[in-house]
Amino acid sequence: MSDTLMKTYNRIPLTFVKGEGAYLYDENGKQYLDAVGGIAVCCLGHAHPAVTQALCTQAATLVHTSNIYQIPLQEELANRLTKVAGMDRVFFGNSGAEANEAAIKLARLYGHTKGIDTPQIIVTEKSFHGRTMATLSATGNRKVQAGFEPLVQGFLRVPYNDLDSIRKIADNNKNVVAILVEPIQGEGGVNIPDADYLKGIREICDQNGWLMMLDEIQTGMGRTGQWFGYQHSGARPDVMTIAKALGNGVPIGACMAQGEAADIFSAGKHGSTFGGNPLACAAALAVINTLENENLIKASANTGKAIVNGFKEALAGVEGVSEVRGQGMIIGVELDRPCGALVQQAIEDGILINVTADNVIRLLPALNLTSDQANNLVSTVSKLIKQFLSEQAV
Ligand code: PLP
Repeated sequence: MSDTLMKTYNRIPLTFVKGEGAYLYDENGKQYLDAVGGIAVCCLGHAHPAVTQALCTQAATLVHTSNIYQIPLQEELANRLTKVAGMDRVFFGNSGAEANEAAIKLARLYGHTKGIDTPQIIVTEKSFHGRTMATLSATGNRKVQAGFEPLVQGFLRVPYNDLDSIRKIADNNKNVVAILVEPIQGEGGVNIPDADYLKGIREICDQNGWLMMLDEIQTGMGRTGQWFGYQHSGARPDVMTIAKALGNGVPIGACMAQGEAADIFSAGKHGSTFGGNPLACAAALAVINTLENENLIKASANTGKAIVNGFKEALAGVEGVSEVRGQGMIIGVELDRPCGALVQQAIEDGILINVTADNVIRLLPALNLTSDQANNLVSTVSKLIKQFLSEQAV
């Protein structure tokens, strides 16, 4: 491996040279069923012809101009996204962290327009919002923050899935302007809150004039079996951030807003050189078209349910398996012990999985996974889990 890359990643010594649908292929031609999907990015799988064609056509026509000019593809994408998301306006950036930066800036500006000079945003424990200074400060994981102090001020932390602790802050703090939360915590361990959690947050925000801001970077674009995670609860946020699957691998992120929040930014308050350029927007439009044309939101719900049920059946009564959970195609199998070693064992069996929060096997496969592929995923990963737990017991 090259010495000229900064050492920000402990990379697995595996190189992929080709992708097709749910499969990746290494240098030796070995096939891997990909249940990582670039960490919730490749919602259509690899090399989907609709995205490939959109990219080739657009690259041959016009890759980039600038946000100082009109960009019709960006407007078309904003029109399509606002419709499926129930939002009014969109700002385009290039990543999840940038989308959240936009949301954080928007919330602060909202506060200042209300005469709050030191606006504060409520965030949660075990959250992940990105690696920029503001987003790592918002993140509820000390490992992500350590060494980067002083952190950005203005975040108040509460436990996830705990409405009472938010209510307590509401009683005592007049500087809060927003809550930023994930509908399901992805990096934090596929943590699915109670069914009334987002509704409760919506109510508290309404009562206090706070913005409800959802980080749907991992849960958006059909991942959970709805276009967006919030749609399971009906609690529509004021601000929502997306990225990851939006471009199926082409970097693009967005901060969307509705109602009063949609009119907070005025010219000069935020910007991005690359954000929403014609190439990225062409890819994202192809993603939206394909999700619709191939009925993949429903497929995500159904296949995800089958996978969760498959794991529940295969792992029933297995000591060491704490919980199987999931919503659509974000699936977690929690063990009672660290299980990072499973990643390598799965690679040997031709399956790519991810372990997060030390002890949660996280699966984020393409939404168009076939039932044969889903069955293979369940049987191979269940076998590996049982093997891993039995070896540990010896
Ligand atoms: N928010 C959530 C919920 C995420 O899962 C991630 C990435 O894992 C991010 C934000 C950061 O996105 P990016 O890596 O594109 O900056």
